[in-house]
Amino acid sequence: MSEYQHRARKRFGQNFLHDAGVIHRILRAIHAREGEHMLEIGPGQGALTEGLLNSGAQLDVIELDRDLIPILQGQFGDNPRFRLNQGDALKFDFNQLQAAPHSLRVVGNLPYNISTPLIFHLLSNAALIRDMHFMLQKEVVERLAAEPGGGDWGRLSIMVQYHCRVEHLFNVGPGAFNPPPKVDSAIVRLVPHEVLPHPAKDHRLLERVVREAFNQRRKTLRNTLKALLPAAAIEAAAVDGSLRPEQLDLAAFVRLADKLAEQPSLD
Ligand code: SAM
Repeated sequence: MSEYQHRARKRFGQNFLHDAGVIHRILRAIHAREGEHMLEIGPGQGALTEGLLNSGAQLDVIELDRDLIPILQGQFGDNPRFRLNQGDALKFDFNQLQAAPHSLRVVGNLPYNISTPLIFHLLSNAALIRDMHFMLQKEVVERLAAEPGGGDWGRLSIMVQYHCRVEHLFNVGPGAFNPPPKVDSAIVRLVPHEVLPHPAKDHRLLERVVREAFNQRRKTLRNTLKALLPAAAIEAAAVDGSLRPEQLDLAAFVRLADKLAEQPSLD
């Protein structure tokens, strides 16, 4: 560790991992290998960074907090496989990494406040990505990995599962971090599909149908989708309009979005 003591900053969502057992378990789940191109978001004080570099992989990191840059540079700057990018991962242009298609392996113990927008930012570059391993708030991982029929199934599950296979790997308690967060955390693996299992004619229409449907999740689809799709169009998509949105799987939402694409008056 550096002679400079960094104080964790709340506004950057800094909860640093300090439990060697948990760090090891995460690194084992990621299983980085020589020659791979890794991207770590929010390396902090390098808890995961060291193990990632020791694997022999090429490692880009993106860190927002300028005060952490000299610490990271001092620790890893001599390694030719290490590249430090200072900035906001939410605004980062991943094309500048010049990764081959489906090659980039993304890793991060993410600040909770940016986790959902960051996942969507990464998914808009899904063709570059081979897989992603994130530490997130446990409730968020449960929503990402949810199946139809339960209370966790919603917009986040559907829009992420449209692009990725999702695996909830294991949970991590607050004691593994310094300072400890108020919530439980979990590690999730997201693997973008090379070929989408349920491609929609227009991805934006899928987003629209899903948003509208879950705006009032206790109502029937016939009711919540009234402004978008007539009851006959819902039936023609082979969907029972008397169901509630959480009872529908991804394929059914895609059929509704494709029916919406056929509607004559779309604003
Ligand atoms: N990886 C370290 C660990 O496990 O100990 C740090 C994890 S800490 C939860 C989150 C890290 O993300 C912090 O270093 C924080 O400064 C950084 N960060 C916060 N917002 C960011 C952003 N928008 N872009 C890049 N890094 C960010």
